[in-house]
Amino acid sequence: MDIFIQIAYLAASILFIIGIKMLGRTSTARKGNFLSSIGMFLAIFATVIQVEAITLVDILICVVIGSTLGLIIAYKVQMTKVPEMVALFNGFGGLASLAVALADFWLNTQEKGLQVDQITGISVAISILIGGVTFTGSLIAYLKLNGKVSGKAITFTGQHLINLILLIAAVAVSIFALTDFANPNFMIALAILSLAIGVLVVIPIGGADMPVVISLLNSYSGMAACATGFVLNNNVLIVAGALVGASGIILTQIMCKAMNRSLINVLLGGFGQTSGGGNQADGPEIAVKEVGVEEAAQIFDSVSSLIIVPGYGMAVAQAQHAIRELSELCEKRNINVRFAIHPVAGRMPGHMNVLLAEANISYDKLIEMDEINDDFANTDLVFVVGANDVVNPAAKTNPDSPIFGMPVLNVEKAQTVIVSKRSMGKGYAGIENELFGADNCLMLFGDAKQTITKLVGELKEL
Ligand code: NAP
Repeated sequence: MDIFIQIAYLAASILFIIGIKMLGRTSTARKGNFLSSIGMFLAIFATVIQVEAITLVDILICVVIGSTLGLIIAYKVQMTKVPEMVALFNGFGGLASLAVALADFWLNTQEKGLQVDQITGISVAISILIGGVTFTGSLIAYLKLNGKVSGKAITFTGQHLINLILLIAAVAVSIFALTDFANPNFMIALAILSLAIGVLVVIPIGGADMPVVISLLNSYSGMAACATGFVLNNNVLIVAGALVGASGIILTQIMCKAMNRSLINVLLGGFGQTSGGGNQADGPEIAVKEVGVEEAAQIFDSVSSLIIVPGYGMAVAQAQHAIRELSELCEKRNINVRFAIHPVAGRMPGHMNVLLAEANISYDKLIEMDEINDDFANTDLVFVVGANDVVNPAAKTNPDSPIFGMPVLNVEKAQTVIVSKRSMGKGYAGIENELFGADNCLMLFGDAKQTITKLVGELKEL
């Protein structure tokens, strides 16, 4: 039986690795997700056979409740709410690691009166510490994102010092716990400290910067699960936890790079205090040129190359289907249509890719920033749909701008730029965008979905 379980764990681990690899390409992502689910099913199945403490029926009841809840949440969640859903799931992952490690430690040392070896003791302490930080940190991230806790950075004097003292205290109680396994109070104190650290580390971070923090907490939840794998001596948990831990940290690094943030800055907290809140002093008002739908349709009708730049506003307006219609109409008129995808457009990695794929826009039309950035200069028309920061030239020209140094799309180099947004509202970084006042830029005000639907209607008339 043990051999069967180990083979099932090995197969599950291989499926996880292949699944994650396939998630790296939009065209194979669905299959990768499916393979990973089969891996998870195998892992659960093997674990169910192995477990002795509770009955099969108990486990099945939990699996049914958990899967039903997961399905309902996944079906109901709006695309714009995915980051907060991920935050909540990460948090539960952290809580599970904390609870399992603490329970296993209690069972062995208190109930069975066993001596735990040092490696297991260290793994228990790491699971509790990282699991606790992940749980409360993720809950705060969730509450900030859905507005139940202020999205602004909550700071007070001595905050970093208190965090440091709590961290030192956590390390100290872990050492005490390792020297005196018979006394469970140290591990319980560690759990309380880690829960407090999670809250204090995340509250000083601005709500708008939460996606990066969530990616980091996702990595933490993986690390906690990996440590719990050592506690339980469970190979698949070690592999799956390590995969989540590593991929989360890589994703965090990619996001930081694309936003021109340093990872250390994120790790130390206090991150995001300069952005997301519009802290930058407002400059003189930008004079813009407006364009109506009719005139815009005539411009579309006259060009031979078009790059569409989607941003967060497209997600808010759910304009992706209208955009597909527009792009098909343009292609019928022999216009070369492509989409420029900025790595942090929207509010989560791959946000634009997912929405455009949902609208059946072919993957080969979605071009990454690095590949398309030199082509803007040779393009007749750029249509910016609900994007703001990712097309803000200040990132290249204004050293005082909070986004200075962030790589952006060179849309201003095109012959004409039309921007679809509702007003002169700012984007995520809370700053003005001089692109909107540029000579070659025309503002098409209104909700993106409604405006593009009207634009399609006008184009059909021409
Ligand atoms: P953005 O800078 O946040 O701007 C979005 C724009 O959409 C707003 O200026 C808004 O202007 C417009 N908008 C909102 N609702 C709209 C609607 N219904 N119709 C039309 N327009 C609408 O978006 P972005 O250019 O995509 O940049 C993303 C930002 O998020 C970057 O600063 C990035 O660093 C940050 N970020 C991204 C991630 C990620 O993983 N993708 C993670 C963390 C942070 P109006 O109010 O005037 O309409």
